[in-house]
Amino acid sequence: MKEKGTISIHTENIFPIIKRFLYSDHEIFLRELISNAVDATQKIKRLSSLGEYQQELGDLAIEVMMNKKKKTITVRDRGIGMTAEEIKKYINQIAFSGATEFVEKFKDSADAKEIIGKFGLGFYSAFMVSNKVEIITKSYQEGSEAARWECDGDTEFSISPTKKKERGTEIILHINEDSTEFLEESRIQGILDKYAKFLPVTVKFGQKDKSVEDGKDKDGNPKYKTIKVDNIINENEPIWTKAPSDLSDEDYLKFYRDLYPFSEDPQFWIHLNVDYPFNLTGVLYFPKLKNDFEVPKNKIQLYSRQVFITDEVKDIVPEFLMLLHGVIDSPDIPLNVSRSFLQSDSNVKKINSYITKKVADKLGELFKKDREAYEEKWANIGLFVKYGMLTEEKFNEKAKAFALVKNTENEYFTLDEYQEKVAVSQKDKDGNTILLYTTDVAKQDTFVQSAKKRSYDVLVMNEVIDSHWINQLEQKLEKTQLKRVDADTVDKLIDTGDSQDSVLSEEEQNQLKEVFTKAVDNTGIMISVESMAPDEMPVSITLPEFMRRMKDMAATGGGGMPFMGQMPDTYNVSVNANHALSNKILSAKREDTRVKYAKQAYDLALLSQNMLDGPSLTKFIQRSVELAAK
Ligand code: ADP
Repeated sequence: MKEKGTISIHTENIFPIIKRFLYSDHEIFLRELISNAVDATQKIKRLSSLGEYQQELGDLAIEVMMNKKKKTITVRDRGIGMTAEEIKKYINQIAFSGATEFVEKFKDSADAKEIIGKFGLGFYSAFMVSNKVEIITKSYQEGSEAARWECDGDTEFSISPTKKKERGTEIILHINEDSTEFLEESRIQGILDKYAKFLPVTVKFGQKDKSVEDGKDKDGNPKYKTIKVDNIINENEPIWTKAPSDLSDEDYLKFYRDLYPFSEDPQFWIHLNVDYPFNLTGVLYFPKLKNDFEVPKNKIQLYSRQVFITDEVKDIVPEFLMLLHGVIDSPDIPLNVSRSFLQSDSNVKKINSYITKKVADKLGELFKKDREAYEEKWANIGLFVKYGMLTEEKFNEKAKAFALVKNTENEYFTLDEYQEKVAVSQKDKDGNTILLYTTDVAKQDTFVQSAKKRSYDVLVMNEVIDSHWINQLEQKLEKTQLKRVDADTVDKLIDTGDSQDSVLSEEEQNQLKEVFTKAVDNTGIMISVESMAPDEMPVSITLPEFMRRMKDMAATGGGGMPFMGQMPDTYNVSVNANHALSNKILSAKREDTRVKYAKQAYDLALLSQNMLDGPSLTKFIQRSVELAAK
């Protein structure tokens, strides 16, 4: 007997709403149907293992079939199936139990995923691509009669008994005019590769589907014929579902290569496994990073019970961990809700801090276990660790134990070790420890060498992220300042309070300043005559640390000071009163000779700062040749 009814919904037709809201995400219909098929299959397996189902399970593969001529896509499982009563209960009523509320609440919402999740509309997503959907199903329960449900995208459905030999469910979609893209093998294959790659149940995609309907039975209902299915498209036990103790490095590497065929092998990985207070498994890989910010994101894939959900894990994974690759699987992440909701979800927050903690622990462990190997990797993980320290306070606390700094001798130190190393030798008169650094060992060599002559140590801070990191270090480390080696003359970089005596009288110093003022011929430049060690450069050009940082920050978009980028540089020119050249300048008889020598000394200083080019460079070379020939 054929029964007709109305899908219980207390308000106007819901399908146009679904169709409209779900517009952008049409392909997920297949994910939803396959997920249901997987659930039904898992349930029968469980019933069987509990002894509540005693018949043969048979081949449990889920089959996806396409019939281009009839314009159908069929998803067939051998799961628990449904009785007619269950169809009424689960398909007709449950889905729309919240319909009134639904329509009210989401009339104006554009967030399709939110709707699907909230009201269990998974099955109904089939109507996004179909003008008619059929369910042919037979429950596992003994003596149950197969049922056929049909609905043409209206609120009207019909349900009637039918013949079906095997236990399980077949969903037949009659693809609508607007969705013919889904009748292309490559499109379906692509969707399956994306969503079904690691499902716990085998999925086969049949491309040689001969027919779905095969005549009618005596009641006039269509009969169905077995269809040839080939391609197996998935791996049922991906590594994250296994115990780490059962896996070798090779297994992890193979999985990585499968996921990211064009990437270099990762440096190391973390196997995540937690079941309280939320459920989460996964494997996160540390890729080899290039030394820049152009890191490909969206490399972490998010699964829910092995069904691919998304690779946009923003908000679920802390920002700095987006640099990682791999897979996270959690049934506890509310997958079908909007981003703003995710951010405030307490599970998501817990997951966030769990992953952060695991990653920090792993790094700490690597550091402790094999420091040498860790130091070798530092070039690659440094960016990641610093990024984490800058963006996640919790990570920052832990990272102090394994964040490294490197000096110009290629020695590595933890922050504590380094502070201890320079505590005595690099303390200024106010008791501050001054850490010196260079951003370019080659270009700042003159300054690095002056610092070394004083037995100061110099750190190498040559990554883009370092300018931000330096700011953070200074805030976090007590009584510590960081200065670039060329931020000042070496005496003033670390002002110990003891000053050199000047060999020049005050008057001579004034004369010297006058000569240099003429030579430099730029009123914007501060010139000072200072008593330095005789073996320091005769003239040094420095850009104060503070000024340079402001400029750096403006250049990388931080600090909220966009105008700084256009500000003129305020370099300081320091003339070394104690250098032999100063004496020579003062003793020259003719003024133009004095100015010439001063120019030469000034140009040398410019040269050591890479600031000499164009006509100035040409003039310098001519003058040098002339002086050498004398
Ligand atoms: P959800 O999966 O979120 O519960 P759906 O609308 O996708 O929402 O499905 C509603 C219900 O219909 C399911 O909970 C299940 O009981 C039943 N169902 C759907 N598909 C199948 C299937 N292939 N086999 C057995 N039962 C199914």
